[in-house]
Amino acid sequence: MLAKAELLKRTDFKAFGEALEQIELKVAGLTPAQRDHLFYLRAWQKTYAGEIEQAIVDFKSLISRPIDATLKARATGTLINALTIGRQYDDSFRYLAELLELLPSVDDAGARSQAHAVAALLFNQVGRYDQSLTHSAQMAKENAEPWVSCIANQLRVESLFKSGQMTAVTAEAETWLRRCLDAKEYVFASFIRSYFARIHLQNGESKRATQLLLASREDADRTQYRVVISSFNSLLARAYLAQGELANARKYALAAIDGGPQEEFIEPLVDAYRVLYEVSVKQGDTAVALAYHEKYMAADKAYLNDVSARQLAFQMAQHQAIANKLQIETLNQQNQVLQMQGQLADKAAENTRLYLALLLTVLASIALWAYKTKRSQLHFMRQAQHDGLTGICNRVYFMQQAEAALEHARRNNGRASILIIDLDHFKIINDAHGHAAGDTVLKTSVTACRRLLGKHDIFGRLGGEEFGVFLPDRDAVLAAQVAEQLRVAIAQTDTGDGRDEFPISASFGVSSSEISGFKLQQMLAHADSALYQAKRHGRNRVEIYKPPPGSTTATPAFSAVNK
Ligand code: GH3
Ligand code: MG
Ligand code: MG
Repeated sequence: MLAKAELLKRTDFKAFGEALEQIELKVAGLTPAQRDHLFYLRAWQKTYAGEIEQAIVDFKSLISRPIDATLKARATGTLINALTIGRQYDDSFRYLAELLELLPSVDDAGARSQAHAVAALLFNQVGRYDQSLTHSAQMAKENAEPWVSCIANQLRVESLFKSGQMTAVTAEAETWLRRCLDAKEYVFASFIRSYFARIHLQNGESKRATQLLLASREDADRTQYRVVISSFNSLLARAYLAQGELANARKYALAAIDGGPQEEFIEPLVDAYRVLYEVSVKQGDTAVALAYHEKYMAADKAYLNDVSARQLAFQMAQHQAIANKLQIETLNQQNQVLQMQGQLADKAAENTRLYLALLLTVLASIALWAYKTKRSQLHFMRQAQHDGLTGICNRVYFMQQAEAALEHARRNNGRASILIIDLDHFKIINDAHGHAAGDTVLKTSVTACRRLLGKHDIFGRLGGEEFGVFLPDRDAVLAAQVAEQLRVAIAQTDTGDGRDEFPISASFGVSSSEISGFKLQQMLAHADSALYQAKRHGRNRVEIYKPPPGSTTATPAFSAVNK
């Protein structure tokens, strides 16, 4: 039904109105897009019915909504027509700029044709005939439908005539007229004919003009379009005046004024008053001539004012377009500056990240260096504190540790014991089996002992085949028990590599803080003395230091303990 209404709106205005009423009855069933379409047709109807102001309000509200591009183009086109009819030229040109901008996104052939037509029409009105011709040519090129080429041709004739490029009604121009008649587009056909009549008048062929106008009068009347009818009448008046038929001239001039659009200072009105003035002059009626001359001058002035208003509006629209362009360029430049600022900020952030990474690398290097230094320091320290062959404390370190532990025991009213271990007949082992075998015996003996010692016991090599064990928190009896376990372990140690086995053993001297006090040297001396006893008593045995009978102080039983 909407499509049917579209067809009717050009050809049968009354039927068009009825079709809209029909659609209005089913408005509830329309989609939003269909409602927009109906709204557009209603506004179109108002434009055609002369309710220009209301039509303008409706079109403006329609195109401000997010509607489909095609409908937007059509509504903008019709709005421009309404604005032009309403003499709101500023807005006409403003919306024309919008329409031309919208055009690339419009696919619909009809909407495109309408946009080109609106542009060509407006450009003709402000004397931009070249621009008008461009749009009418584009219009004819894009759309081969008869009514489209008809309108394009009418606009072309207007441009050519007004720009002085058309001085005769050529055979080609006749074919342009035919297109409109074939399409039954009588408004446009009549306009073309009116230009033909003007050409005849210009060429002094007023009879041809009269013939043409009278012969096509019926088509012009059929349009019921005041501008067309008034235009025909005023041209007939001019033609009769040229032929000296004053009565006819006067008759058609008056008809042009009566039948013309009210309050519109169009060209035919100016012509009609001019004819009436000249007729009166020719008839010698000076008073009437003066009255018509005044009306002619007023109409002409109004018409010219209208023309300059249009041209002024066009100039302003152009300046606005240039200003917009400049504003857009400024905005683009501002955008570029912002983009560059953004890039700079990114770079700065990247630099910060790089500095941070560099800093972390340096810190990590320092940490690694510190770690390695500490490790080698620990390594050297360990080397300096331990015996290279057996891995236990060396003499100096043993003494330090034992001294500290003993001091701790003294302060806490505790107790402690010391063992001195000496491998038996080690010289013989060395001599009989070699120095390497002696070394192995030293290592295996140490390993055997280590297994039996606790983690707080201090084990050190005092020199050669002699070892010391500091046992915190143990009296002589308990220490002797530990010594006995160690003795058994050493005696049971495997020697050699299976081919060359020999027995080994060790002798033990034990001293404790209860008897020897808390002086390390004293304790060692007493342990050594006990060891000497063990050697003397046959080796592979444990001896506890006992003070000599009658001695009350912690003095050694044997004065010469050192070997
Ligand atoms: P005794 O039972 O009386 O203790 O007799 P001994 O042979 O064990 O005692 P002596 O002090 O006479 O001999 C100790 C030997 O230990 C002398 C030395 O050659 C040897 N010796 C010292 N240090 C090492 C070493 O690191 N490796 C080897 N293989 N032998 C060593
Ligand atoms: Mg020895
Ligand atoms: Mg020995």
